[in-house]
Amino acid sequence: MKRAECFHRFTQEIFISQLFWRVGKPRCLPIFMEISNMTKEMLRELAERYQSVIAVMAEGVVVQLKDGSIVECNESAEHILGLTRDQMMKRTSMDPSWYAIHEDGSPFPGDTHPAMVALRTGEPCKNVIMGVHKLRGELTWISINANPIFHSNDPCPYAVVTTFHDVTAHKGAEQAIQEREAALSAMSQASHDALITINSNGKILFWNPAAERIFGYAAAEVSGCDLHELLAGLEEQEQAHKGLLTFAKTGTGAIMERTREVMARHKDGHFFPVELSVASYRLNNEWLAVGSVRDITARKEAERKLQEMAMLDGLTGILNRRYFLELSEQEFKRCRRYHRPLSLIMFDIDHFKQVNDTYGHDAGDTVLQAVTQTGRAILREADIFGRIGGEEFAITLPETNLVSARHVADRLRCAIGNLNINAHETLIHITSSMGVAGINHEIHSIEMLLKCADQALYRAKNAGRNRVETFG
Ligand code: GH3
Ligand code: MG
Ligand code: MG
Repeated sequence: MKRAECFHRFTQEIFISQLFWRVGKPRCLPIFMEISNMTKEMLRELAERYQSVIAVMAEGVVVQLKDGSIVECNESAEHILGLTRDQMMKRTSMDPSWYAIHEDGSPFPGDTHPAMVALRTGEPCKNVIMGVHKLRGELTWISINANPIFHSNDPCPYAVVTTFHDVTAHKGAEQAIQEREAALSAMSQASHDALITINSNGKILFWNPAAERIFGYAAAEVSGCDLHELLAGLEEQEQAHKGLLTFAKTGTGAIMERTREVMARHKDGHFFPVELSVASYRLNNEWLAVGSVRDITARKEAERKLQEMAMLDGLTGILNRRYFLELSEQEFKRCRRYHRPLSLIMFDIDHFKQVNDTYGHDAGDTVLQAVTQTGRAILREADIFGRIGGEEFAITLPETNLVSARHVADRLRCAIGNLNINAHETLIHITSSMGVAGINHEIHSIEMLLKCADQALYRAKNAGRNRVETFG
């Protein structure tokens, strides 16, 4: 059969098959016999029309006979496969020089090619994805449909029409998306920070492993739950729900303006400090928010320790001179403003140099710590207790007049005098001298009050030590 004749015959077959396809199962008419009532002219016109449609189709079309040999193809087929008509003609899908692969990269054997399957089974094959290695080496992905065609009364197809289109670009985009998703997923898995996505109703959509670790909830437990009800305090919940109303419309909100520190609730109920930064993105016509949450418990603790180190005396753990004066000054001002009483005790260990000289410096340190503990046990929560020199201490007593302060000082002096301080298996006994002063209209600062107490202390020392003297 000449090529033109052959194509003529097949295009007629295809056209008629297509017509019948619309009303049911594909049927094939034995042309030239069952359509004998059609005029030859009509057939020729139909064939020409169909031939021209196939020629301009963007889809590749290939026709193969029963034995798999290619007998026709259009220009798009040549272009997509990177083969000329001559390179394709008479060859079969089994040609060893054509190398095709599945989507997973495994070889696509010629006998499983959709055209061959359609010929073997008599059933159409649809949307089969195949990677074709072109002769030049590049890989093209195609999506293939193969339709078998039959003569009447013959259940076996005598040919197959394969149509296909190039899906390389689509597949590339799909792959790029998959790769990006894989990268994002790896990042969120590896992240030390909790990464959480919520929708504009505040419902949790995504929860990474760090979120599981930080908040104690597994991803499956929280999926679809209200983020703020789960993790925020009551006050913050109200604020967040208000903020979400704006967020749903605009994708913006105060929370997005800067990184902020907030308290979050763990599954076990305890609150802990976190640093939160939030960004928004739009998906399927809805604003979503992705939050990065860092547990800053350790950092806050370190900050607290640093602050403490700057405020507290390293040996005794009570306020150092600077912070004693700072806090006392605040109390002093408050009591002056509201005409409330306030007193200050200054005390000093008697002959402390001798303690050091006799028992050693370490024993002296133990004595200082014991004195501090005694002071802590006797004083009230509101009293401000500081070590203001080597073996000198001061106590600011808010809401305490001079008489009461003197009683406190006496109690403390007795308690110190009764201490049995055990240092290196030796019991050490000490005494202390105290000076007490109270505020009056002539005293304008805490330093002045301290000087007054110091003068009283000086008098106590001069009067023989182990005693309390008041100023004025
Ligand atoms: P007074 O009864 O007049 O107060 O006599 P004192 O010996 O207590 O006073 P003095 O000022 O002569 O001596 C204070 C001593 O306190 C001298 C110093 O070495 C010691 N000292 C200061 N700071 C520390 C410290 O942190 N640890 C120890 N172990 N000793 C200290
Ligand atoms: Mg001293
Ligand atoms: Mg002393």
